Formats: sequence, structure tokens, C-alpha cells
Amino acid sequence: MAFVPAYLRLRESGELDRRIESLRQILKSCELCPRQCRIDRLNGEVGYCCAGGDLRVSSVFPHYGEEPPLVGHHGSGTIFLAHCNLRCVFCQNYDISHHGNGERVKTDHMAQYMVKLQQIGCHNINFVTPTHYAPQIVAALPEAIELGLRVPLVYNCGGYESLEVIRLLDGIIDIYMPDVKFFSSDVAGKFCNASDYPEVVKLVLREMYRQVGELKMDSRGIAERGLLIRHLVMPRGLAGTEGVMRYVAEELSRDNYVNIMAQYRPVYRAAEYPDLDRPVTTEEFLEALEIARKYGLHRGFE
Ligand code: SF4
Repeated sequence: MAFVPAYLRLRESGELDRRIESLRQILKSCELCPRQCRIDRLNGEVGYCCAGGDLRVSSVFPHYGEEPPLVGHHGSGTIFLAHCNLRCVFCQNYDISHHGNGERVKTDHMAQYMVKLQQIGCHNINFVTPTHYAPQIVAALPEAIELGLRVPLVYNCGGYESLEVIRLLDGIIDIYMPDVKFFSSDVAGKFCNASDYPEVVKLVLREMYRQVGELKMDSRGIAERGLLIRHLVMPRGLAGTEGVMRYVAEELSRDNYVNIMAQYRPVYRAAEYPDLDRPVTTEEFLEALEIARKYGLHRGFE
């Protein structure tokens, strides 16, 4: 059966317009993420993430470096958003996330970007770091649908999300791609100023999984819908890989797709923290794979 993105059904029922309004209301006293800055972003105030009322886009392009089910034959239609609500001290995209490099974009332009990516053959629209712009992204959808958008939307986030917002995205997002970073509140507090990260990400993962289930692909192996979990292995076991893999396997499903990543490099302010001063060793990465296998996980990292 031909793939139908979730957002089309919501558009037809009128529910998409209600969600757009609910999300917009949150911007007036921003609680889009657990930082809960409660500032009015529609009136020029900025909070922890530094994002304003308008979208700020850093780049738009077909990405061939993402996971194979997203890249397919013609790339993942990537839209990099400026700023970030997590602001990790070791961020490899710090010029975008911390410095906010990008251009202000109105919702009609956002809609055109999405459709253009689809027109050049991209298999999905991949919003990178969308958390602090969820209302503006969803507000662009009606026009994008009118212009012919039909590919799945990928929510490529850091996992530090508001449960209320993720619930409002139910039926809009087809593929959730959270990067599960830490399972220790001390580590998350030290490197992301988010000591509640582990408890937040557990609830968020559960809700994402409830909405979309395990990652499903079409006959070509291209992702259509589901949860795609990322986990960046850190030096000295700082990412809490054992806890992450156990949670995913035992509390969600062993059939989840999990991309275990080895590309940590000590960039940005990592030099200020002795624990972060080197890349991950081969032994550390192989150990992370072994942990995943031990819990019965089998997709995404073989
Ligand atoms: S999205 Fe930004 S302004 Fe809103 S609560 Fe989070 S950090 Fe604060």
C-alpha cells in the first residue's frame, strides 16, 4: 500500500489547525522544552536557547551522511535549524547551535524549502534540532501540503523535550530520531546544564515509541515511520551506554533501530573538561556494540 504521511490525515480532519494554534500559544510563555523559560517569544524575548519568534535556518540540503534508511538513493532532505535548547559543551555544530548562524525564515519560505527538497528526490524532511522551533515548523505544514508535500517528517532532536509538545506532534511526525546522550544526571548537568535529562529522555522515548513504534521501511529499505534512536558513545563511559541500551531493549522493544555512533571529537569547549579530552577508542566503541547485543538489540549498528 502506498505510503501516506501522518500529517495528511490530520490536515483533512482539521486537527492540524488546532495543533498549530496550541503550539503557538506555548511560544507566548515558552515551555517548549524542560528549561521552561516562560518568556514571550512572540514579543521579542529570548530564553536559554536564544531562539526568537521567527525560524532561523542554517542550511537546507540533501544529506547523504545520515542513516541508510533516511538517505536511500537521493538523500535525506535536511533543514538545519539555528540555536539549541541543550547547548552541550562538546557540540560539533557549535557555530549553528551556540552561535545561531543562519537566516531568518518566514513560514512560507519554510514550506517552499520542504517541497523543494521533495522535488529533488529526498525521501523525507529531516529537521535537525527542531525542539525550540516546533510551532513554527508545524505552522509551515498547511502551505507545504498545498504545494504537494507527501514525504515523512523526521524529528531529529536531542531528546530534551517537553512531553506536552511531543504529544501535540502525535500524527504530525512520522519518524522520531532522538539522540539519547546521557543516563547520568551528574554527567548531563555538567556537560549540558540539564541534570534532569535522563528522567526526561526516558519519558520522551516512551511517548515517541507509543506514537510511531519500531522503524518501518518500504521495499527499498527507505524509512517510512517509526523510532530511530541515536546514541553517541563518549570517552570513559560518560554516555551511560549500558543504561541506555537496557532501557531501550527492556522498556521499549528489542526491535528498535539504534544507531550507535563513534564520531565523538573534543571540540568547542571540551578542552575545558579533562574527561572530554579525547576521541572514543576502538575498544570503547566495540564495548558499546557488545552491550547493545547483550540486551538483544539487533538493528541499526551491525
Ligand atoms: S525552547 Fe528555548 S525559550 Fe523555550 S523553554 Fe526551551 S530553552 Fe527556553
